[in-house]
Amino acid sequence: MKIEIEKVKKKQVDLSEVEPASHFPTLMEMEKAGECSFTAPVTAQVSAVWEYDHVRAAGKVETAVRLTCSRCLAEYQSSVSSEFTIFYTEAKGEELDEEVELSDEELISASYSGDEIDLTPEIAEQVMLEIPYKPLCKESCLGLCPQCGADLNAGECGCDRGGINLKMAALKKIKIEK
Ligand SMILES: [Zn+2]
Ligand SMILES: [Zn+2]
Repeated sequence: MKIEIEKVKKKQVDLSEVEPASHFPTLMEMEKAGECSFTAPVTAQVSAVWEYDHVRAAGKVETAVRLTCSRCLAEYQSSVSSEFTIFYTEAKGEELDEEVELSDEELISASYSGDEIDLTPEIAEQVMLEIPYKPLCKESCLGLCPQCGADLNAGECGCDRGGINLKMAALKKIKIEK
């Protein structure tokens, strides 16, 4: 997905695109690393306008992934959706500035050179940011029994985990008292 500078200088540019995740190398790296698998194409909608000396690109990306719960190891589906606004300023000289995240994390400042802006890396980046580092099938996931490995979401396995729980409680107490 590309914004042509000459066009956006004249009027607003609206772009929308549906691309398979396999077209984004960084997303494929995530799949290879086993972090997730993409179950839907990546859809992106971006509106770009020229403002004073920069391009303001506001958009939304959506896709869906299959994740593995970090507590109970169950696989589950999750939708991914992210909205973003990027200010692209023309790079002075040869080097492109590093991306800078402004105080509001939704606003990103970046630079471009040449006569168009390629949004592809930013679309991939927005998807990556939405994928949890430690996925949970649900906030209240009980995880697996440390003794027998049973999925505690499915019910009590009958193991005596009292000792472990007491130790945990004691540790928590010490932290609070500090
Ligand atoms: Zn879980
Ligand atoms: Zn058990």
